[in-house]
Amino acid sequence: MPPAQKMVPALLARLRQAHPDARYELHWSTPFELLVATILAAQCTDERVNRVTATLFQKYQGPRAFAEAHTAALEEDLKPTGFYKQKAKSVQGMSRGLLESFRGEVPRTVDELVTLPGVARKTANVVLNTAFNLPSGIIVDTHVARVSQRMGLTKREKPEEIEQELMRLVPQDQWTFFGPATVLHGRYTCTARKPKCDACPLNDLCPKTGV
Ligand code: SF4
Repeated sequence: MPPAQKMVPALLARLRQAHPDARYELHWSTPFELLVATILAAQCTDERVNRVTATLFQKYQGPRAFAEAHTAALEEDLKPTGFYKQKAKSVQGMSRGLLESFRGEVPRTVDELVTLPGVARKTANVVLNTAFNLPSGIIVDTHVARVSQRMGLTKREKPEEIEQELMRLVPQDQWTFFGPATVLHGRYTCTARKPKCDACPLNDLCPKTGV
């Protein structure tokens, strides 16, 4: 068994100890809201997105409200999340796509979700893993990519290729846990600039590639 594969059971056990209830930190109350929040979270902190969506989801309720919103007003509402023109376009395009092709309901497959404007594989996995508890794949954001490379689980750079390698290593019934737990590990311990190796529960398992 290759070393990375041997390490996975211990890695999962340690992650579970550190983050027993690992969840994404975006606030949402419907799959549609999670889809919007995930689009807004690109290049923005979850904390800031949560501040924006606290009022946004009261103002616009459901895909029709977003689809029919005045674009300039929506852009203004999304401004604090950055890249607001592109995000407003994506959120409106996604909402229209949902209404036109899926009767306003968030579909439950990656293949259907990625037909929507602004929805890439990572966003689709976040929604399916989190809102529907479906192990559609493993979300690979910047944190998961960095931790996986440092842990020696992958040498790949492209998120899709990293995901494929992780899907081969991690049992499918752990995918919906592994994604959010690794995001939290990357956000608070295996941080980009100064990883906290001394305090890391994975220290003895980790080859610390590139650190
Ligand atoms: S030991 Fe260091 S490099 Fe390895 S996962 Fe922990 S914080 Fe990251």
